Amino acid sequence: MGYMTTIVLDNLTKRFGDNLAVNGVSFTLGTGSFTALLGPSGCSKTTLLRLMAGFEQPSAGTVHFNGRPVGSPDAMVPPERRSTGVVFQSYALWPHMDVAANVAYPLQARGPGRAAIDKRVGKALEMVSLTGFEQRSVDGLSGGQRQRVALARCPVTGTDIILLDEPLANLDVHLRAEMLDVFARLHEETGATIVFVTHDQSEALALADRVIVLDHGVVQQSGRPEQLYNEPANAMVAGFVGRGMFVSALVSEGRVVLADLPVPARGHAHGTKATVLLRPENLALTDVGVPAVVVATRYSGASYDTTLRLANGETVLLTAQERLEPGRPVHFTVEDASDRAGLIRAGAAHPPEGDWPADRVAPAAL
Ligand code: ATP
Repeated sequence: MGYMTTIVLDNLTKRFGDNLAVNGVSFTLGTGSFTALLGPSGCSKTTLLRLMAGFEQPSAGTVHFNGRPVGSPDAMVPPERRSTGVVFQSYALWPHMDVAANVAYPLQARGPGRAAIDKRVGKALEMVSLTGFEQRSVDGLSGGQRQRVALARCPVTGTDIILLDEPLANLDVHLRAEMLDVFARLHEETGATIVFVTHDQSEALALADRVIVLDHGVVQQSGRPEQLYNEPANAMVAGFVGRGMFVSALVSEGRVVLADLPVPARGHAHGTKATVLLRPENLALTDVGVPAVVVATRYSGASYDTTLRLANGETVLLTAQERLEPGRPVHFTVEDASDRAGLIRAGAAHPPEGDWPADRVAPAAL
C-alpha cells in the first residue's frame, strides 16, 4: 500500500452533449479518509466516481491522485493503472468460479506465488466475514454475500483507494446494517481512502467521516456528518439531511415568533424577519401553540410522518404517534431540544454560506 493516497478534484466538469452533469466540482480527500458522496438521483454522484476511477474523462478540470494528475481533458491514466478498487452495484463476479478464485482474480496478473495468494485471499475474506466460503460457487450466494466477495477484492490487491457505487442498493434493510459494520472494518483494517456513493442520508451519516452533498452536479456542502445536520449550508442540504424545512418568522425583543407564538429562543436574535429551520424532532403536538392543518400523513413504523400547513401556507413535517386525518386542525410547539437542533440560525456571528434566505437568525441565538 502506498503511503499517501490523497484525491484532489480541481474544478472538475463533465458534459454529456448539452447536459452539464458535473459543474466545476473541487474537493480534497485526505489519505485514509472515508467520504460519502450524497445526493438525489441524477445529481451526478456516479459520474464523479467514474471520473475518479478513470471510466470517464473530464471535459474540464483535473483529477489528481497523490499530487499526480490522472485525469484531465488532455491526459488519462487508465483505470487499471490508478491503483483503485472499484465496487459497483452490479458485482461483476465470475459466475462459474468459486469465491476464492473470484477474490484472487485481480492478483493473478501480478503473479505472486500460490501460498501468498491463498494467504491474502484468506485475510480479505476474513475482513468481510466470509471465512469458510472459499470453495463455494458464487452462483449459490445471496446478494449480500456476493457484495462481500466483490468487496474482498479491494483489500486483496492492496489498493490505496476504494470507490464504492451504491454498494448497499440491492440489499435488504437487515443486510444493510450488517454491511455497514463490514465497511467500517474494511476501512479500519486497510487504511485505504474510501469514497462511497449513496442517495441514503442515514448510510452516509453512519459511515463516513466526511459527507459531500451534491445537487445538479454542484457541491452543496462538504463537512462532517454532524456539521451537515447542525449547520446545513442551504435549504437543499437541510431538507435532504434530516428533513428540515424552512418557515418564516419574526424576531421581536430577542424572541423568535412563529405565527404569533414565541418559540424558545436564547440569546440575542435581532432584526425583524427570520427564517427558522424546523426538523420533525423539534416539533410536538400540543393543545395550545402554532395553529396548523394536517395535509398528509404517512406511517413509518415507529410513528407517522405528518405534514402540516401553517396559516401562511408554509409546511412543516412533524412525527406524530397517531394517524391524523388530512384536514384536521392541530397546534404544535417548537421544542428547544438542544443546541444541536439547528432550529434557528443566523446571524452575524456565523454567516452561513450558500443560499440561506436573506433574513435569518443564528443558531447561536437560540
Ligand atoms: P443515480 O443515483 O440515479 O444513479 P447519479 O447521481 O449517480 O444518479 P449520474 O448517473 O452520475 O447521477 O448522472 C448524472 C447526469 O448525467 C444525469 O443527468 C445522467 O442522465 C447523465 N449521464 C450520466 N452518464 C451519461 C452518459 N454516459 N451519457 C449521457 N448522459 C449521462
